[in-house]
Amino acid sequence: MSGRSTPPAPSVIAHWIGGEPAEAADGRVLDVTDPASNRVYTQVARGGPADVARAVDAAGAAFPAWAAASPQERARVLHRVADAVEERRERLAAAESYDSGLPIGQARGQAHRAAENFRHFAGVITTLGEDACRQGGAGAEQLSYVVRVPAGVAGLITPWNTPFMLQSWKLAPALAAGCPVVLKPAEWTPLSASLWPEILTAAGVPAGVVNIVHGTGPEAGQALADHPGVPLISFTGSTATGRRVLRSCADHFKAASMELGGKSPVVVFADADVEAALDAVVFGVFSLNGERCTAGSRLLVERPLYGEFVRRLTDRAARVRVGPPSDAATEVGPLVHADHYRRVLEYVRSGREEARLVAGGERPVHLPEGNYLRPTVFTDVPREARVFQEEIFGPVLTVTAFDGEDEAVDLANATRYGLAAYVWTSGLRRGHRLAHAIDSGMVWINSHNVRDLRSPFGGTKASGVGREGGARGIDFHTEAKTVHVAVGDARPPRFGGTP
Ligand code: NDP
Repeated sequence: MSGRSTPPAPSVIAHWIGGEPAEAADGRVLDVTDPASNRVYTQVARGGPADVARAVDAAGAAFPAWAAASPQERARVLHRVADAVEERRERLAAAESYDSGLPIGQARGQAHRAAENFRHFAGVITTLGEDACRQGGAGAEQLSYVVRVPAGVAGLITPWNTPFMLQSWKLAPALAAGCPVVLKPAEWTPLSASLWPEILTAAGVPAGVVNIVHGTGPEAGQALADHPGVPLISFTGSTATGRRVLRSCADHFKAASMELGGKSPVVVFADADVEAALDAVVFGVFSLNGERCTAGSRLLVERPLYGEFVRRLTDRAARVRVGPPSDAATEVGPLVHADHYRRVLEYVRSGREEARLVAGGERPVHLPEGNYLRPTVFTDVPREARVFQEEIFGPVLTVTAFDGEDEAVDLANATRYGLAAYVWTSGLRRGHRLAHAIDSGMVWINSHNVRDLRSPFGGTKASGVGREGGARGIDFHTEAKTVHVAVGDARPPRFGGTP
């Protein structure tokens, strides 16, 4: 039993094209299920190339006026979007929680973050200066200045984890930079995206500036990646899909921003503040149901602390409250979809063969249906193990002992991913050394997942290409055009002799 009532949902969630709801061109739909019971509770339009083409046309028609609006005008619109999101925070949280299984308290936090993303990029676009360089001596100079030109229609492809917040993280910089968009949400979690039309309309976003095409990745997503009228793709999702999308971008010379998977290490030295490290480890891997790209899912503990840390961790993991997502006390809800649940259970099965299961690994007895998994901890995990190497994207933690700094770095770098890393030590110099030695886009020292939206976000190796956040989001959505102008008496070299 899911133990909750269905939130208001349209019987079919439609596309949003040119400021109007639209069915799929061929009328097809997909079922949408509730992760707490796996029952179908609504349907969503199943878009394909014809729908994407219509959406790109609508975005293209909106491009000249939106690109010509001043940064201040666009920022005002972004602030109104943020207000409209805040006003609907409870509805958004309820929709997100129901559709994706995110515990309601955490879904409220994500809705707030979505509003903040719009405010952040409204600030960035109105404060960002452009570069100018001068060369040559006084009176014979050349001035080179850079203008940032909106790149065109942006294709945004988003995953099912914290879907609304991640959509806002892509929409806000694109809109701030002057690019209309075509957004392709994940097929498993379309419900929160069905609130965008109401939000965008309330905020006065002009028709065609934001278009949404639902459907599957291989159909709607691929059509967007392949469409010649879309010069840039901002993608968040798995490494495997990212590789495919990147290939399509290469075929069409598109700019690509790729935020991909992770298997982020948490390195805990024996001199760490154990209580704080423990809190961060438990929160870092089990919050958002473990379906978080920066989850600290690979714990490395220095050997003198290992036994004690594992004991306390096991105890904490057993006390994490698993329950229906609508319950305010729930800390871990059901995983997003039955297919994903099966995938995570398969990792649990292989982990049992490769390491020692000390917590979880099974469905809680009080939740006989839905995609529930008790927080799971494997210890003594060797680096060759699948559960050490591969992203699981669920409430599953691996624990491995290390001896000294060199081995810690070696183990931290021993996967193909490089998104985030966390280091716990009371030695600040050691913290910095580790931060430099670990190959990842982001490192937290004695801190966990606290974001400053101005700082670059993104990964190395198989975790992605490019960085998002702050001015980089504007950089990505604009073409830098350099204008060189002679100032004073600068003259080109004389060619062809004196007349
Ligand atoms: P997927 O890669 O499966 O899907 C991501 C999006 O791509 C979905 O909208 C999907 O459509 C679409 N898609 C699938 N195939 C194609 C294709 N051929 N062409 C274009 N688009 C396609 O990822 P998940 O949804 O499973 O998301 C989880 C993954 O996302 C994890 O690996 C996680 O680490 C990563 N992630 C990374 C973040 C980061 O910032 N680095 C942040 C959040 C998540 P559909 O699902 O509808 O079929």
